[in-house]
Amino acid sequence: MRHLKRGLAQDARVEQNRTVRDTVEGILADIEACGDAAVRELSVKFDRWDRDSYRLTDAEIQGCIDQLNPQDLRDIEFAQTQVRNFAQIQRASMTDVEVETLPGVVLGHKNIPLNAAGCYVPGGKYPLLASAHMSVITAKVAGVKRVATCAPPFNGAPAPAIVAAQAMAGADEIYCLGGIQAVAAMGLGTQSIAPVDILVGPGNAFVAEAKRQLFGRVGIDLFAGPTETLVIADEIGADGELCATDLLGQAEHGPDSPAILLTTSEKLARETMAEIDRLLTILPTADHARKAWETYGEVIVADSDEEMLRIADDIASEHVQVMTRDPDYFLANMTNYGALFLGPRTNVAYGDKVIGTNHTLPTKKAARYTGGLWVGKFLKTCTYQRVTSDAASAMIGEYCSRLCALEGFAGHGEQANVRVRRYGGRNVPY
Ligand code: NAD
Repeated sequence: MRHLKRGLAQDARVEQNRTVRDTVEGILADIEACGDAAVRELSVKFDRWDRDSYRLTDAEIQGCIDQLNPQDLRDIEFAQTQVRNFAQIQRASMTDVEVETLPGVVLGHKNIPLNAAGCYVPGGKYPLLASAHMSVITAKVAGVKRVATCAPPFNGAPAPAIVAAQAMAGADEIYCLGGIQAVAAMGLGTQSIAPVDILVGPGNAFVAEAKRQLFGRVGIDLFAGPTETLVIADEIGADGELCATDLLGQAEHGPDSPAILLTTSEKLARETMAEIDRLLTILPTADHARKAWETYGEVIVADSDEEMLRIADDIASEHVQVMTRDPDYFLANMTNYGALFLGPRTNVAYGDKVIGTNHTLPTKKAARYTGGLWVGKFLKTCTYQRVTSDAASAMIGEYCSRLCALEGFAGHGEQANVRVRRYGGRNVPY
């Protein structure tokens, strides 16, 4: 394996993370101490956005919807239908369980929806309305009763397309509030915003870090920070134009978005790099994409599919676009990724915007331990048990009593002993 281009060194990334962590820590403390007053102050500071109440009224929401043309509304509706359909199929796969594991021993689990979710919809650089479908619809399909959602102002006002998408997705409360202050207000609660049980949705480094620091006091879906993309390609599956387009299509998210090409072909690698240079002279969002490519862009040439697999699993990228002669090899064998895009006919933008799989996905190697947002993240799988015969209670009780003694738990042991005596009519034989 050899690098034709390398990204920012690891210690520089650690330093950036530390700065973000310290900023978030200070802001969370302010919001905890001062509630709405701090939220308002921070909204003015970071977004120059000042209101008595950040919750949008029904008239404001309708005003946003009215600003969109009928085609825009139909397109949003189409995307939301795809997301809802797939979420409903995933929900149906999460069945409750009740089973008799031993005679008289019944164990089960129920999938219980959370009561309240806070869905963050990013909107600093672009009005990312698709995130509203991904979190609000998914929460509603799971059965969450109260769905609050926040998005920052865009050009000094609520972004009409985001607000329309939030409302069409079925949000119960819509706030125009961005960044750490939005996440903290929903997570901790303030005088005007009731706290939620889980915070979900993607965002920039500050939003992702705020969710991470709040975890424990409130649930979070996953660590979903600045977008990352990995393109795995060879000369049979792709060409320089497709690879360059798919890398820059995600690099345009912002200057902190890594885009990596992993290929077995040095020829394809060089073609892609040349095409990226050309596209950066014409892409309207080249300012963001160039910074990301120059800082984090990487080009790696590997010797075989097996080596590409090992490297890709180590990178554990959020998005992995596979355009090789056999994409299914990666589907069968790869273990660390947020979402896979198999073959040249699909791509990350389809997944981000419309195809129906969720676009809120793990970043910074979180794909090693979690997949993306889905209905399961809004459900608690809670177990229960019952013992339906005296004999079963006494039989389990004997095992339990001896195991408690091994741990020195006399009180636990007595819970078992009393049942062995009552339902089995004997003392536990040791
Ligand atoms: P954003 O809504 O996440 O963040 C904007 C907010 O950040 C602003 O409202 C402001 O309050 C706050 N902010 C800005 N500078 C700050 C500072 N110096 N200190 C404290 N707060 C500050 O919008 P964005 O910035 O455009 O970022 C969206 C991000 O979401 C991108 O990085 C994109 O890649 C990512 N994303 C990730 C996924 C995923 O699933 N992982 C999906 C979609 C988007």
